[in-house]
Amino acid sequence: MRSARAIAAFVFAVIFLLAANAFVRTEHAKADAYAIAHPDDITARAHKLHFSTYVIDTHDDTTQRFLSKSRFDLGKRYTDGSIDIPRMREGGMNGIFFSIWIDGKTMGPEAIRQALDQIDLVRVNVAKYPKDIVLCRTSDDVRRAHAENKIAALMGVEGGHMIGNDIHIVNIFADLGVRYMTLSHFYNTEWSDSSTDKPAHNGLTDFGKEVVREMNRDGIMVDISHVSDKTFYDALEVSKAPLIASHSSCRAICDHVRDMSDDMIKALAAKGGVIQINYEKSFIDQAYKGAYAKASGGVVQHLDELKKKCGDDGECFEREMKKDEEKLIAEGKLPHVTYEKVIEHIDHAVKLVGADHVGLGSDFDGANMPEGLEDASKLPIVTEALMRKGYSDADIRKILGENTLRVMAAAEKVSAEMKAQNP
Ligand SMILES: [Zn+2]
Repeated sequence: MRSARAIAAFVFAVIFLLAANAFVRTEHAKADAYAIAHPDDITARAHKLHFSTYVIDTHDDTTQRFLSKSRFDLGKRYTDGSIDIPRMREGGMNGIFFSIWIDGKTMGPEAIRQALDQIDLVRVNVAKYPKDIVLCRTSDDVRRAHAENKIAALMGVEGGHMIGNDIHIVNIFADLGVRYMTLSHFYNTEWSDSSTDKPAHNGLTDFGKEVVREMNRDGIMVDISHVSDKTFYDALEVSKAPLIASHSSCRAICDHVRDMSDDMIKALAAKGGVIQINYEKSFIDQAYKGAYAKASGGVVQHLDELKKKCGDDGECFEREMKKDEEKLIAEGKLPHVTYEKVIEHIDHAVKLVGADHVGLGSDFDGANMPEGLEDASKLPIVTEALMRKGYSDADIRKILGENTLRVMAAAEKVSAEMKAQNP
């Protein structure tokens, strides 16, 4: 009897344990399914906010792909590079500044010719997809595009050498829709010093100051990314409109000349400007910058070498850069950098000068992107990360795009006033 009861108890216990196990497993599976279907509250809220607001990136080198022999098609989804319409749609990116960039050593009429050629390429390629993307000139144009569920395409000239020392070219760029100009690129122009060249002009020359005033008059935003610190302070003093740094990050976190010191960020913000955070790994991560410089001779030297190898083929640049980087990562010579570093830079600048003066300037298609922010489709992670840090919806909207619209509107106002005073 005893043993029969013991056996019954044992069988009961086994059945109970199996049933309990099955129950727990079913509940876990249900919880997993629920988590997939119902991400936590912040993920859902961030998604809603991100896809209902302006997400404007002030610096993308995608124009170089239009120049390539591979006939890059903006409307097709690619697995390389960072920008195309499908991935912009997927990531809620609804404003893009196509960079007009030519090598900084090309000067004079040839520089003008190449810049005009690229402006035309942007216009032609944007015009191929009128239901998805539209060329915009003003902040109101951008708002209209957004209301029509279209991506706003804008242009920025990356380097004052493209005016070929002729101030009237500023007017022509403005007429063609250019909305910012970076005063210099990697090398000094004949009127402005670059942060990555030996100082030659002590900042801006008198002609350089005249260029800034002409840009103000035409409503072209003055971009101080790439320029030397002295050029920045000179431009800040001369410009009647707020400035932007279209793609620069914070030196306090990564000590790179392409980034801005806290004092510079404060001075920029005090005059209403915006620092648009660059995602390039060697501009945002000190350890990566050091390791990259050691392994490749530094980003500027490396670009010089690639220039020799690729000439004007932007896709070759991108491909070679990626290949070199992957090789260095595989050899264990470079540390991993994730999107969280970008968030750290945004947060640093916001803590320093407030959410009104910080924005996004990825450098997509022209730089090494951190893990998690490889292309435009990944952008919602920025909104989610800021929300998790406790940022208000209003502040996140400013950072994602409203600050850029505000600076654009301020430049338009200054332009209208200057033209009214002196037609
Ligand atoms: Zn640049």
